[in-house]
Amino acid sequence: MHRIELISPAAGERRVWMRVGTLLDGVSAAPLHHANVVYDSKSILFAGEGLPPRDLLNAGQTEPDHDLPQFTLLPGLTDAHTHFFLEGGELDPDKRSAYLKQTPETLLDHAKQRLEKLVRLGVIAARDAGDKDGVGLALSKLCSSAGRPLMPYVDSPGAAIHHRGRYGSFMAEPFEDCFSARQCVEARVKAGADRIKLIPTGIINFKKGAVTSAPQMSAERVGEFVEAAKEFGRQTLAHASGDVGIDHVIDGGVDSIEHGFFVRDDQLARMRDKEIAWVPTFVPVQMQVDQADRMGWDAEIVGNLKKILDAHAKSLVKAHAIGAQVIAGSDAGSYGVAHGLGLLYELELMQRAGLSPLAVINSATGAGSRRLAFKEKFGQIKPGFLSRFILTHHSPLEDVANLRKERIVVFDGAVIASGGDVDASGL
Ligand SMILES: [Zn+2]
Repeated sequence: MHRIELISPAAGERRVWMRVGTLLDGVSAAPLHHANVVYDSKSILFAGEGLPPRDLLNAGQTEPDHDLPQFTLLPGLTDAHTHFFLEGGELDPDKRSAYLKQTPETLLDHAKQRLEKLVRLGVIAARDAGDKDGVGLALSKLCSSAGRPLMPYVDSPGAAIHHRGRYGSFMAEPFEDCFSARQCVEARVKAGADRIKLIPTGIINFKKGAVTSAPQMSAERVGEFVEAAKEFGRQTLAHASGDVGIDHVIDGGVDSIEHGFFVRDDQLARMRDKEIAWVPTFVPVQMQVDQADRMGWDAEIVGNLKKILDAHAKSLVKAHAIGAQVIAGSDAGSYGVAHGLGLLYELELMQRAGLSPLAVINSATGAGSRRLAFKEKFGQIKPGFLSRFILTHHSPLEDVANLRKERIVVFDGAVIASGGDVDASGL
């Protein structure tokens, strides 16, 4: 065991100088070796292979506080697609539907119980992808309040927007309740939405192995929402599966495409050209395979699911190869997808799909910070970014599954050591 006691920079102006064997900065295509990092309780002051400038160090300091040649330092992880109002890890369908019948206050209480656990798992940020119980909005508010507890950065779109009678009613309010796209967006923004979530398509019909319903929204309609969101300074994220619906959201100009099952290669190229990010969310579909017996799926359906996942894996490799922006997100809260642990599984599936461990890690760290307009600066180990990172002696470059093993998380002033086993209840 490599037990180490990190100095906490929490008190006063103490700066910490750490030297690590491997540094992953969240965006670079290669790791740094024998790198120096200087940080205080707020932010990173220096990161690089050279020696830090003297004026950044504590008076008289000539040696690092910590010399950790066996360790890897990487930014804390961002989950770009979560639903805090749902408990993901529960596998019993009856318990899941009973869970949803609780009051919004109770759902929020449950969600708050997860926050510190997420940080312990190394998840320092979560983009909520919508609920109509105000859970995500309440967490977003808590995150920017003076009394913020130890919790990841959270932002939320509040209620997603769908069409009445179509997929999404459990997390969305219908467009039909609004006079116009602009008014719909304005109402979300007034309710505190950090971004706008659209549901322009249906979902995969697992029995048919395809998206069998027509898109909910035309490209024109999506474009109206995007324009209105821009007017209010908000990004747009769009649930979209099936290539017809994906065309609509690309044409409409959303900021990110969520899920994107059945995306075509030419669409990936257009996404790259229009700087539309892709959040592929493998886990919720993989869970249908992992839990096929419990879900009652027969061999034919499992075959469909595996085909879909294989095609998705090929698209992921293609997207990365052509330079489209891929951002990791778990769809935590979906069936079997526990918060935090679901993201770690997602990273393993992205690696299994054929991405290098470093590409996977960048998709869960720097990619979000570059594209998703978070209100705090995290996700990279560079001067000016917040001191929120993971220190581990199990190299994630050998296998991203090593991120499940024990780790030390530094979150602003706090140093949080965590064993490999995390109490997964309630996630
Ligand atoms: Zn979702």
